[in-house]
Amino acid sequence: MQSSVEKIFAGGDSVNSTADAISAIADGFKAIKGIEKYLLK
Ligand SMILES: Cc1cc2nc3c(=O)[nH]c(=O)nc-3n(C[C@H](O)[C@H](O)[C@H](O)COP(=O)(O)OP(=O)(O)OC[C@H]3O[C@@H](n4cnc5c(N)ncnc54)[C@H](O)[C@@H]3O)c2cc1C
Repeated sequence: MQSSVEKIFAGGDSVNSTADAISAIADGFKAIKGIEKYLLK
């Protein structure tokens, strides 16, 4: 979920085409994992 700007992670309607709440929430969970990896590297 990391964007082309290293410190910015994105999800939900701004990056996916499904435009539903469940996808936005799932993106949040995915982004958390990515942010953790990024902070621990
Ligand atoms: C009328 C309507 C009905 C819907 N019904 C359903 C439904 O029944 N089931 C379903 O699953 N989905 C439904 N959806 C879709 C669902 O609401 C979205 O997919 C979901 O809210 C996306 O979440 P998000 O966090 O990506 O974006 P959003 O919920 O839009 O959150 C984005 C947030 O960013 C804020 N923001 C914007 N620009 C800036 C800025 N420059 N700086 C700071 N903050 C900013 C906004 O104020 C907002 O709080 C509906 C959508 C609409 C419009």
